[in-house]
Amino acid sequence: MWTLILNCGSSSVKFAVLDPASGQVRLTGLAEKLGAGAEHAPPGTGATIRFEVDGERQHRPLTSGTYAEAFDAIGQRIRTLPDPPSIGAVGHRTVHGGTRFSGSVLITPEVLDAMRECIPLAPLHNPANIAGIEAAQAAFPGLPQVAVFDTAFHHTLPDVAARYAVPDTWYREYGVRRYGFHGTSHAYVARRAAPMLDRPLEDLNLITAHLGNGSSVCAVQGGQSVDTSMGLTPLEGLVMGTRSGDVDPGLHEFMHNTAGLTLEQVMTALNKHSGLKGLSGGLSNDMRELEEAAHSGHAAAQFALDAFVYRLAKYVAGMAVALGRVDGLVFTGGIGENSAYIRQRTVERLGVLGFHLDAEANANLPRGTRGLISAPGSVPVLVVTTNEELAIALETLRLVTGDPEDRPALTEEHPA
Ligand code: ADP
Repeated sequence: MWTLILNCGSSSVKFAVLDPASGQVRLTGLAEKLGAGAEHAPPGTGATIRFEVDGERQHRPLTSGTYAEAFDAIGQRIRTLPDPPSIGAVGHRTVHGGTRFSGSVLITPEVLDAMRECIPLAPLHNPANIAGIEAAQAAFPGLPQVAVFDTAFHHTLPDVAARYAVPDTWYREYGVRRYGFHGTSHAYVARRAAPMLDRPLEDLNLITAHLGNGSSVCAVQGGQSVDTSMGLTPLEGLVMGTRSGDVDPGLHEFMHNTAGLTLEQVMTALNKHSGLKGLSGGLSNDMRELEEAAHSGHAAAQFALDAFVYRLAKYVAGMAVALGRVDGLVFTGGIGENSAYIRQRTVERLGVLGFHLDAEANANLPRGTRGLISAPGSVPVLVVTTNEELAIALETLRLVTGDPEDRPALTEEHPA
């Protein structure tokens, strides 16, 4: 069964057509500068759509820049592929399922209502996801549609990991707790790591580090998330591209009192101008650029890398507490898969937990491949390439064709 996988953001849609069984990909692409999914976006907004088929790229402008127009263009492009694939289902990457979703779900009107209830938890992402689903239902009528939540994998967090030490009513009335994100990726790479270690996933305690523009680590016990570094929102935890990760919550008041910043200005700074970008003095949020700058002597770039590694290693050590016993550390995401330097520096700090690198294996691992990079006798350290589209396609296939008993994931309680 061919699946169409959609990741609808507020101004973009990433898409892929793939067969979950074989992993074969027929089409990928990106529609950008969309009018927030609005039905009546002003024309000439500069929206474009890019298709990639067999490594060949094609661009074309969109006139209205709506989701509807983008999906229409995707449908047309699919129909003009050689031996056009017949799409059996649509899988959506969805961001915040709150406590309502403990797994992926077939989309129904009730599911959309529950997603609307979760809008306060993800005011930018959930409305875009919902608008994308509604437009996809109109564009591809009759096809089953599945929502795969970034948060769902973390529904198994025990309360001690999930709860903040804040007034109980915040939790009960507003759902203030840690939800975690990147769940699809953490779950996927943990599953892929098990055969590399020649052990069943159920017996393994793994720490997975998804390091991209957004970054998080996860403690995976027997295939279930038991702690993770992101929280109520994807701002908590590690140093990221432009996001600060952990700060003292008192910082907001301090910056208001001393610099006169509004809450909105503080939040914009923490989300968009912090992390690697902030630490490097505004140089870059891009790890590759920072590595190059640091290697040619840029002190602030070097410091940004040092702080990134320090926070990451500290969090990995924290996840060891969540697990009790650690059977492996997995690096993934654009940085985790490609930066031998960050992996080396991080593992060097983790000797205390029994991790030791095979420097040659680490440096020579070809890009885009998975492999073991630890020295003999070390707790295994692995690089596993993530594939969120494939993971969503597999979930979509499971929901559409699988045993209905495996399906219920919409929970009654709300918000906590
Ligand atoms: P996203 O979170 O947007 O999916 P990615 O997972 O693609 O992001 O990761 C993007 C990050 O990966 C960027 O910081 C980029 O510089 C980094 N990256 C990609 N290739 C390399 C490389 N060869 N060396 C170091 N960093 C890399």
